[in-house]
Amino acid sequence: MTTQTHPVDHELIQTAAHVARTRCRGDSHTMAAAARAQDGRIVTAVNAYHFTGGPCAELVLIGTAAAQGAYALNTIVAVGDRDRGVVPPCGRCRQVLLDYFPSLKVIVGEGTRTRTVHIADLLPEAYVWSDHQLDAE
Ligand SMILES: [Zn+2]
Repeated sequence: MTTQTHPVDHELIQTAAHVARTRCRGDSHTMAAAARAQDGRIVTAVNAYHFTGGPCAELVLIGTAAAQGAYALNTIVAVGDRDRGVVPPCGRCRQVLLDYFPSLKVIVGEGTRTRTVHIADLLPEAYVWSDHQLDAE
């Protein structure tokens, strides 16, 4: 685990908050995510809630970023609708984000206590899928 602290990308939080405020509607879209790609641009997405397990905003964002040619993400944050502020990624998203972007940073914390942590810090003793593929020889 790395416990080093990184600066908080406030523009990223503000962008996610803006999307949450202006694009989330009803029960289908309740969360927004914003990520800073390696080339500096910001990619945004909202969740697609469905009782069968619709994807969180972070997962929609991975596809949205790829559709825009942004395959490397540096930092991600999710913000809830109705001014709920920064919301940490759920367990599934932590696993997926770690597998896609092993060096990703995630903004967590509430209000003025937001901080940037490494994705691995949010998933101690993580299962790393690629470490368990037997055909890798
Ligand atoms: Zn999630």
